[in-house]
Amino acid sequence: MSTIAYKNGVLQMEDVPLEKIAQKHGTPLYCYSARQLTDNFRAYQTALKDVLPQDTFTVCYACKANGNQAVLHLLGTLGAGADVVSGGEMLRALKAGIPHGKIVFSGVGKTAEEIEAAVKNDILQINVESAPELERISAAAVKAGTKTRVAFRVNPDVDADTHEKITTGRSENKFGIDIKSAPALYRKAKDMAGIAPTGVAVHIGSQLMKLAPFAEAFKRIAALVGELRAQGNDIATVDVGGGLGVPYQGETPPDIKKYVGLIRDIIAPLGVHVVLEPGRSIAADAGVLLARVQYLKEGDNKRFLIVDAGMNDLMRPALYDAYHAILPCVEPAPNAATVKYDVVGPVCETSDTFRTNMELPQTGQGALLAIMTAGAYGASMASTYNTRPLPAEVLVGGAAFDIVRPRQRTEDIVAADVIPAWLS
Ligand SMILES: *Cc1c(COP(=O)(O)O)cnc(C)c1O
Repeated sequence: MSTIAYKNGVLQMEDVPLEKIAQKHGTPLYCYSARQLTDNFRAYQTALKDVLPQDTFTVCYACKANGNQAVLHLLGTLGAGADVVSGGEMLRALKAGIPHGKIVFSGVGKTAEEIEAAVKNDILQINVESAPELERISAAAVKAGTKTRVAFRVNPDVDADTHEKITTGRSENKFGIDIKSAPALYRKAKDMAGIAPTGVAVHIGSQLMKLAPFAEAFKRIAALVGELRAQGNDIATVDVGGGLGVPYQGETPPDIKKYVGLIRDIIAPLGVHVVLEPGRSIAADAGVLLARVQYLKEGDNKRFLIVDAGMNDLMRPALYDAYHAILPCVEPAPNAATVKYDVVGPVCETSDTFRTNMELPQTGQGALLAIMTAGAYGASMASTYNTRPLPAEVLVGGAAFDIVRPRQRTEDIVAADVIPAWLS
């Protein structure tokens, strides 16, 4: 059952009316359901436990989807590791209690400082995305007197059939190393003083709605592992990445059990430890962004609902033309007549539009709207554009709800700038 539903005429998250949370903590406001996060994570754990031996897999939640430490802590207590893409995310994961041995570090542009921190923290593995990065890791490991476990993130050149801005596994994307040049790099890595090339990693994109591209990528990875072993590389880990899609508009996403079935059939026979990096499929439907209507502006042939959340709070519509369902927090009467509205934010950009021509029962100033499926790539992508403070975040658990990140203070944004003395 969904953890967000109408009950007694109002929209609730778990046992709490969203209006109650908005009144207490103001808007724009992100709310996350602990129960939904738990259910989503357990769906992976359960499916994996059914087909793989205990302790041969780690679900490393991709923190960039939603890096709030309350979320990370909750998932950590359920057994999650973390996939991080910056030193900052590594710090968040560690501080939230995720064990260092369950952290993988991905990303194309890791700095020397970030690599040194990863080496020092003795994380599960660094996913290497280029030959020069490997040199940096080796130097850092030698300096620290250790060998660092690395996986090469290979680019299998498959079409993930998703939005062009979130596909990553084509040869023209900036991610990973070309699968054809991987064997030579592993040979080189094997002889490097600070490197233990123990893994292979892949991540072909995000919001994938079909299983076929995963199957194709996994097959290419399995073939590569065979080739690497034949040349004397000791491959102990395969990281299959993330990318499972979620329904934003009633679509049917791939079934987790079937996805895990691919891992069982194609990857498990290699006898490796399997790492998964799901992000969106764990956090997306666990979150909503609450926004209050500030003005109803009636134009010649348009009605605008101007809300207090903007593209700086939820960037996906502006960035990817993404669709988010929007629900009024007061349940519309059955058969209520509807009117067409454009739901827009206050930011000075035309792309600051959440929806155009949305059918809603007559509504206006003061109404509370829930922008759905906003738990992933929502708050984590927020900015202070237009000097708007980062929104507050709340975690709901049953009848309890608490701030897990206070609203940023406008004074703090303004106070951060410095006017150099030589200007005056
Ligand atoms: C973003 C990302 C993920 C998570 O992708 P989702 O689509 O959110 O599951 C996993 N691995 C890597 C390397 C990523 O960059």
